[in-house]
Amino acid sequence: MVQVFRTVSGFRAACENARTAGLGFVPTMGALHDGHLALVTEARRHAPTVAASIFVNPTQFGVNEDLARYPRDLEGDLEKLQKAGADLLFAPAVEEMYPEGEQTRVSVSRVAAPLCGSFRPGHFEGVATVVTKLFAITGACTAVFGRKDYQQLAVIKRLTIDLRLPINVVGFPTVRDLDGLAKSSRNFYLSPSERAQALAIPAALAEAQDTFSNGDRDAAAIANRARKRIEALTDRIDYVEVVDADSLEPVVGNKIDHRALLAIACHVGKTRLIDNVVLGEDARVVLGEKA
Ligand code: AMP
Repeated sequence: MVQVFRTVSGFRAACENARTAGLGFVPTMGALHDGHLALVTEARRHAPTVAASIFVNPTQFGVNEDLARYPRDLEGDLEKLQKAGADLLFAPAVEEMYPEGEQTRVSVSRVAAPLCGSFRPGHFEGVATVVTKLFAITGACTAVFGRKDYQQLAVIKRLTIDLRLPINVVGFPTVRDLDGLAKSSRNFYLSPSERAQALAIPAALAEAQDTFSNGDRDAAAIANRARKRIEALTDRIDYVEVVDADSLEPVVGNKIDHRALLAIACHVGKTRLIDNVVLGEDARVVLGEKA
């Protein structure tokens, strides 16, 4: 049975007990899908005890974002975690993570600034703050994050190094549905026709992978082609960019000669979707029949 903890002190004690043999940790916001569960399986490869957390973190949502309607299903999540083989679950209330009078934030500068950082002010400060708190509670462990949220992973790797936290941060490849769409809790918001439109995103990524493997190294041209691919099918594009995959800064001289990331953020109806590939490195995005 997954042991559920609501308090910092209870969860901290359970992590302490598990640590000698090895502790894996998978932080989430719940509404779990196979992408999350793959992270649990990956964590188990690193450690005999796996803890997950479910916390819809208010500080990482902007005022006009979907905090209130974010899907929540603790009972269903618990069942899935049980099947996936998690041992511990931390599901705190907001006041447990942000005690009365709280005044502390963690902010990462350069790597949090571009891409989602410029469209969601305060978002990565909220993420960095809550993840630092979670790491302070679990203590030394192997924490597994999805590369679907590529910039988030970069921010977390940076803060872990900078704050000298005893956490081994592992990135895991994006898990996709059969039609190519990256699994996301926010896919629950999509109507069937919006979902069909959203397939333009994996199609654009796959096309970019193909042009890259055919030798194209022009960052702007690859990004523009991807933008064209999704323009007609999405309601608003936040960004379609090819950037340095380590610094997330623009590709110097526009010519790709180092790991490069194609990152997309756009809105389909009211739903904001993100996706990415590291060109020449990630497995080719497999598109289903509908794409
Ligand atoms: P979330 O609950 O959306 O905050 O995500 C929790 C963790 O699951 C983060 O590390 C995400 O990057 C990861 N994740 C979400 N979707 C996927 C996916 N499709 N494939 C792999 N990891 C994912």
